[in-house]
Order: sequence, then C-alpha cells, then structure tokens
Amino acid sequence: MHTGIQMKYVSKLTDAWRIRELVKERRKDMSEKKIPYKIYLEESEMPRQWYNVRADMKNKPAPLLNPGTLKPMTFEELQGVFCDELVKQELNDTDAYIDIPQEIQDFYKMYRPAPLVRAYCLEKKLGTPAKIYYKFEGNNTSGSHKLNSAIAQAYYAKQQGLKGVTTETGAGQWGTALSMACAYFDLDCKVYMVKVSYEQKPFRREVMRTYGADVTPSPSDTTNVGRKILAEFPGTGGSLGCAISEAVEAATSREGYRYVLGSVLSQVLLHQSIIGEETKAALKKYDIQPDIIIGCAGGGSNLGGLISPFVGEKIRGEADYKIIAVEPASCPSLTRGKYVYDFCDTGKVCPLAKMYTLGSGFMPAPNHAGGLRYHGMSSVVSQLYHDGFLEAVSVEQTEVFKAAEQFARVEGILPAPESSHAIKVAIDEAMKCKETGEEKTIVFGLTGTGYFDMVAYGKFHDGQMTDYIPTDEDLQKGFAGIPSFPGNE
Ligand SMILES: *Cc1c(COP(=O)(O)O)cnc(C)c1O
Repeated sequence: MHTGIQMKYVSKLTDAWRIRELVKERRKDMSEKKIPYKIYLEESEMPRQWYNVRADMKNKPAPLLNPGTLKPMTFEELQGVFCDELVKQELNDTDAYIDIPQEIQDFYKMYRPAPLVRAYCLEKKLGTPAKIYYKFEGNNTSGSHKLNSAIAQAYYAKQQGLKGVTTETGAGQWGTALSMACAYFDLDCKVYMVKVSYEQKPFRREVMRTYGADVTPSPSDTTNVGRKILAEFPGTGGSLGCAISEAVEAATSREGYRYVLGSVLSQVLLHQSIIGEETKAALKKYDIQPDIIIGCAGGGSNLGGLISPFVGEKIRGEADYKIIAVEPASCPSLTRGKYVYDFCDTGKVCPLAKMYTLGSGFMPAPNHAGGLRYHGMSSVVSQLYHDGFLEAVSVEQTEVFKAAEQFARVEGILPAPESSHAIKVAIDEAMKCKETGEEKTIVFGLTGTGYFDMVAYGKFHDGQMTDYIPTDEDLQKGFAGIPSFPGNE
C-alpha cells in the first residue's frame, strides 16, 4: 500500500512533467506556426513615401562633379540630361521622406507588395537553427526589382511633357523594366543594348519590343559616338560604357528626350527604398527582429533600397544590425576598389562620382557570367560602407551557382545569378549558426529570377564554369584610368 501511494505520487509527477513538456513543445510549435511561409502586407499597409537615407546620414555622400570644372554639378547642368524632378531628387539630401505620387502607387499595386518569404524549406535542408527570410522582387515580367525605379522615372518624364527616354541595357533587365514603364505611360523608349547581349539574348529583345521599345544593338551607326567606335573597332561586340555614351547622345540630340539610368544614382536608391520599407513593415507585423541583412551589390540600388530604413535606425541609434553587401570576386569594387572620384561610364560622358571603384575602364574577365559587373558603386552605399555601417564580402561564381541550385531545389524559385550572391552568403551565415547553435534571424534580398540566364546555368552544369579573381596587376590597369586631380587619391 505504501509503495502504491508512492507510485501514484511519482506517476502524477511524471504526468505533470509530461504535460509541461507538451505545453512547451506546443508553444514552440505555435510560435513557429504563427509566422506564415509568406508574409504579405495589405495594399493599405504599403508605404506611401520613399525613405531618403541621405537625410539621416551625418557624412553625406560627396556630390557629383562636373569633369570639366571639378565643381559640383548644378541643377541646370543635370537638367539637360535628366528629368527635372529626378534631378531634384538626385540633389536632395535633406528630406527624409518623399511622397510616392498616386499614379506610381497604383502601378506598384500591380505587382506589389512583394512577399517576404520564410525559407522554412531551406532552413530544414540546411539543418540550421537560423531563421531565414527573403524579400522576393522577381514577381513581375521584368523579373527584377528594377521596375520599382523604372516606373518612377517614366512617370516624371511624362509629367514633364517629354516625348520619350533613352537608356542602355546589358543583360536586359533594366531595358525590359523601362519598356514596361514607358508602355504604361505611353512614352517612347529607345534602348541601346550591348551588341553581344542583343545577339545572345534574342528573347529579352523581343520582350522589350513587345512593350513597344525601340531596341538598337550598340555600337550602332545611329549616333556619332557609335559610328566613331565602329570605324575604330569594326567587329566589336560593344560594352555597357559604349551603350551609355550612345544613349546619352541620343537623348541630348533630340528634342523632348532625356536619359535614364537603372542603378548607381541616388534617385534610384530612393525609389528602391520601397523594398526596405516593405520588408520592415512585414517584419514588424510578426515582431521579427533581424540580426543580419544581406544584399547583392552591382551598382548598389537593390542593396541600398533594402538596407536604407535599417541603416537609418542604425544611424539614429535605435537598433543594430549586421549588414552585408555581397559582390563577385571578379568585380570587387567594395572589397578591393579605391574610394575616389571616378567616371560613371567607360565613355567618360557622365559626371564624376565619389565611390568605391575599380576604374571606369575595368572589365571583368570574359568568363564572368554572374552579372553585377559595374566598375563602381552608388555614392550612398560607398559612404555608408566607408563609415562602417555595412560590411562587404566577395564570392566566386561557381560557389554562387552552387548556392543558386541548392536554393532552387528546395524553395522552388529559379534565382537570378545576381540574387544568388546574396543566397550564397545567407547560406554561409546560416551554416555558422548551425555550428554555434545560435538562432539568428537572417534577411536577404532575392532580387529576381534567372530565366534568361540559362546559358550561364548550362556552363555551370557542364562543369565549364571557372573562377577568375583579378590579380593586383589586373586591378592596377583599371586604377590607372581614374582621373587624377588634387585631393583625388
Ligand atoms: C540589375 C540587377 C542587380 C544589380 O543591380 P543593383 O543596382 O546593384 O541592385 C541585382 N539583381 C538583379 C536581378 C538585377 O537585375
């Protein structure tokens, strides 16, 4: 009897223990379940203003300089090339918030809010305690975040009563985004597409033409600069720098046209802040506090847009985050470039910008397939990096495609090679958590889809993709082209 009482007592104890464990597990389950695979904002929760991080920066990014006078570019000088309102935004480093015009908000609603996705499947596959989220910007026909700025730039061109805009495109994402935006506002759109891409990516070309754009392979005989380059290098496949020079000439030599650019400029970062603001709102909805924020960096527009609101909090001392910019080892402007004034384009027709740069003549090795091949970096991102608000790492392309494939196989989305740079580092950070057991929250920007990059994927699958990291001597050649004037070193 005595033992019976004891047994009863013990079994009651174990029951209590069991229940407590069950409740604990259930709670954990619930807290996990509380966060859906996709966090969507309601239309009514979409940001109505862009956030201009320059207003909060103590050290403002250095102004664009006129290469002739070395004086800051004035409104009047920039006005000949860019739309008036966009010049105002370019020069505005005081207003923290700028209203998004209603018509742009309405266009955004066709493909936004973009989901913030919890990468449950990737986490499981990696066996990491880290919580991984990605902001997916590939849910539109252009396949990338570039539409966020294209629609804004087309809107202001229309407001100004212009006939059309000109631009350059390399791989074609920007040209596609701008074509869509111009079709919407009934603007003429002239795209100078790097000739090799024009020939290798006929589908991109046809998408642009479907939206009514006029696509010219560059160099072409339609501009002075194009004819000059063709006479000098008859068989050339062209370059981005050359296409920029043609697009600028096409705009400035035509009545009612302006030139537009899809990255690097501060106005583009401003428009892309919609990415960061939506991300912040989605995280807030579920009380998620990120530890690490990761973005890929070409000219810096998606990264700048994603991190702006978070960097703002960092600057104001309200929160702290580890922010990582990821660039290709074959085009390492942040990690190995110089922080100086340089030309924004190879043709040297654009103003000088102070930025981390490899020199405007720098070209990544021909085997480089992963995008993000711009020689410089947004002045805003450059200054923030210089001031220690973010870190930068460079990764090799075979590793990037490996990460892309790993991601595609569990999360479903076929990522753009550019975006996959961020995936690679997100996986690396998650694997560090697996070693230490830390449950860090990682957020990264998934900028787009890779349907037009199948030649590069093919090379990877066939084992023909190689890595080339430029030597110091290689980089020296690019640095030699940086303009030299007092104070610029
Ligand atoms: C253009 C592009 C990038 C890089 O441009 P940023 O200005 O550095 O953002 C990244 N991902 C995709 C999918 C792109 O199309």
